[in-house]
This record gives sequence, C-alpha cells and structure tokens, in this order.
Amino acid sequence: MTLGFARRATGYQRADLIFSELDLLRSLARRAGPLQMIFAGKAHPRDESGKGMIRRVFSAARNLEGAVPIVYLADYDLRWGQWMTSGADLWLNTPHRPYEASGTSGMKAALNGVPSLSVPDGWWYEGHFEGVTGWDVGHEEPSEDPVAEADSLYEKLELLILPMFYARRSQYVEVMRSTIALNGSFFNTQRMMGQYALNAYTAAAGDKQKTN
Ligand SMILES: *Cc1c(COP(=O)(O)O)cnc(C)c1O
Repeated sequence: MTLGFARRATGYQRADLIFSELDLLRSLARRAGPLQMIFAGKAHPRDESGKGMIRRVFSAARNLEGAVPIVYLADYDLRWGQWMTSGADLWLNTPHRPYEASGTSGMKAALNGVPSLSVPDGWWYEGHFEGVTGWDVGHEEPSEDPVAEADSLYEKLELLILPMFYARRSQYVEVMRSTIALNGSFFNTQRMMGQYALNAYTAAAGDKQKTN
C-alpha cells in the first residue's frame, strides 16, 4: 500500500498529521499490512511553517526506518504530480480545516482511479462518498482537535483500508472504479469551464446588459 501526499508545503497542509503517534503507526503497519509513503512539495523560502513541516516529515521518516519506508521527492512539479497521482494506491490529504480551497491533486488522483483518505475540506466535501470514492478523516463538523483527527486516520487505515487492500482486493478495485465513475466524471476541466461560462461569465454579461 503506497500512500501519496504532495502539496505546496505550508503549515495548514499538515503533511505530518499522520506522524502524530509514531509507535501507533509502526505497530499498525505490522498488524494490518505493509505501508509505504511518497511525499513531495516545496515550501516558499520565507515560509518557516512550511519548512518546519518538511523537516518533521524527514525526522519521522528516519524514526520509522525499517518499519514504514518513506521518501520525500525533491523538486515537485507537474511531471512528478502526474506520476504520483497515478502511481499511489491512496491519496492522503490532511489540511487544517477550513483552509483548503480546493485540493486539485485529489481530483487528479481520482481520475487515475486513486481513492482519497482526506479531511472533509475543499473539494472533498462534495467528492467524498464513504467507502465508495475513499474515506474521510475526522468528522464533518470543523474540529480543533488534531489528536481526534489523527486517531480517525489510524482507525480508518487499520480497520478499513489496509484489510480491504490486502485481503479483499476485488473490493478495493471496486472502490478505485467507483472513484473514477463518481469523482472523475464530475471533477474535471470540462465541467469546471462549463460552470465558469454559465454561472460567472454569461451571468456577468447578462448583468452588464441589464445595467446598460
Ligand atoms: C496538482 C498540482 C498542484 C495542485 O495541487 P493541490 O492539491 O491543489 O494543492 C500543485 N503543484 C503541482 C506540481 C501539481 O501537480
């Protein structure tokens, strides 16, 4: 099971939420099935919170050596974005709510049949169907409790996602299919441009005509 996480590295994205309890993560991978992670994302040179977050991922990776293989790719760009969102088994997204505006990478993953494990924020409010297009982390109401969110993340991985991935493979493949069917068919550029044209541009043109 390969988890992908690639975002602009800035504090609210919380790349390190999954490292809240390293011992738990270590034993979870031992009990429920092997787990590896690929991270990517650059921080703005003056963004101390983002740089600190990258350091914490590196430090967790060293700590988990031998138990959970973790790599952090340098120079995240569109090419890496394409490979990661098509090559991961599960797309991880754990922003601090409600700061995620969209979350395009999760949509790219969905088009490639990669379900999300995500905090309900940004696009995931609309794209999330539990156990059908992926899984949510925490509950619907905004939470100030990162411990509860991390617990929910571990619980979903251990009790639902890893057992399905390793022991009920056809069920996991079914989730991948319905992710393409429900998310990929809707969260795409065609629909976005159509909505901009209809709800923004032509509506604005209509308003202008009225005021003229
Ligand atoms: C997809 C992508 C983004 C945007 O991802 P979000 O999930 O919206 O943060 C940014 N940079 C690269 C290189 C990408 O491929």
